[in-house]
Amino acid sequence: MKIPMLDLHAQYETLLPQIRAAMDKVMSEHNYIMGHQVKEFEDKMASYLDVKHAIGCASGTDALVLAIKALEFGPDDEVITTPFTFFATVSSIWRNGAKPRFVDIDPKTFNLDPDQIEAAINSKTKAIMPVHLFGQCCDMTRIMEIANKHGLKVIEDNAQGIGSTWDGKMSCSFGDIGTLSFFPSKNLGAMGDGGMCLTNDDKLAARLRQLRVHGEGPKYYHKCVGLNSRLDTIQAAILDVKLDHMAAWSEGRRKNADFYNRHLAEVSQVKTPYIAPQAESIYNQYTLICEDRDGLLKHLKSKDIGCAVYYPLPLHLQECFTELGYQRGEMPVSEEMAEKVLSIPIYPDLTEEQKLYVVAAIKEYYQRR
Ligand SMILES: *Cc1c(COP(=O)(O)O)cnc(C)c1O
Repeated sequence: MKIPMLDLHAQYETLLPQIRAAMDKVMSEHNYIMGHQVKEFEDKMASYLDVKHAIGCASGTDALVLAIKALEFGPDDEVITTPFTFFATVSSIWRNGAKPRFVDIDPKTFNLDPDQIEAAINSKTKAIMPVHLFGQCCDMTRIMEIANKHGLKVIEDNAQGIGSTWDGKMSCSFGDIGTLSFFPSKNLGAMGDGGMCLTNDDKLAARLRQLRVHGEGPKYYHKCVGLNSRLDTIQAAILDVKLDHMAAWSEGRRKNADFYNRHLAEVSQVKTPYIAPQAESIYNQYTLICEDRDGLLKHLKSKDIGCAVYYPLPLHLQECFTELGYQRGEMPVSEEMAEKVLSIPIYPDLTEEQKLYVVAAIKEYYQRR
């Protein structure tokens, strides 16, 4: 048996007729840039996430870059974030000339540890950027309390958490701006790149709309220097079809997670994901904390089971950020998790047979040692 980390084939087969029709419509209308499908998809997403404005753009990375530009952070400004995340969270801060200020994670949820945020706040701090990692929303009650107390902005990097909730409220609806990615491996994936900013603030929404078209308005007159970063009409049309099914796919992932949780409970060498009682995860990843992680990884690969390490080197230790001056040992939890985590296949179309095969391979590895 061969089990890839992610298999989109079943999803593609069921939706093919609808996606074909949506693509044909775009092709027959020739509105490839900012066609009406973009606005329709934006409105649908805004209402799904219970946020007033949605602004499509070219990728999840650009959504973060646009968010920071819209909030006008620049040199000398600090943004508090996690080192245990995908590179783009931090590169978006860096590329705007602002400075990432790292705060370590909670070892149970892998998310920014609210208990450590206040100690990192100083006169230069402008914002907190929590990341809803692996599909679990951060403790937004605590994070919003801290932000409000210190007058800080909040940007939610929700690339991995679309549709997840905290205390019954949608991620992306707490902060000043929330961002999404439609990279194909996210729970709502395009057939290419795509991203989105969400905000309840009318002024920020107008600014984000301007920034994604070179800072233009009216045409050929520029008030600021923006990006060329729009969501393609064809991607919006595809995503619109897929959005109707996304909640069911996330439910499928939760069922798979329950299955793994039950079947791996007795394996003392692996710890299954902890989900806070206030959170409902969408399981963009199902991530184990493992003894002898690299050995297990090799074993699973030898059995043709897809698995991956998200992330092997925390961002405070990346070569490109050397000048920030962080040393190994400063973010001990992130550093430890980088050595212990392993994500296994969780996509909704996994069969019971496949899940049992994964579980058996994990048990076999630890029994053999
Ligand atoms: C995927 C991802 C991004 C970037 O999204 P792209 O669409 O690939 O540019 C940003 N942050 C996190 C946490 C991600 O997982």
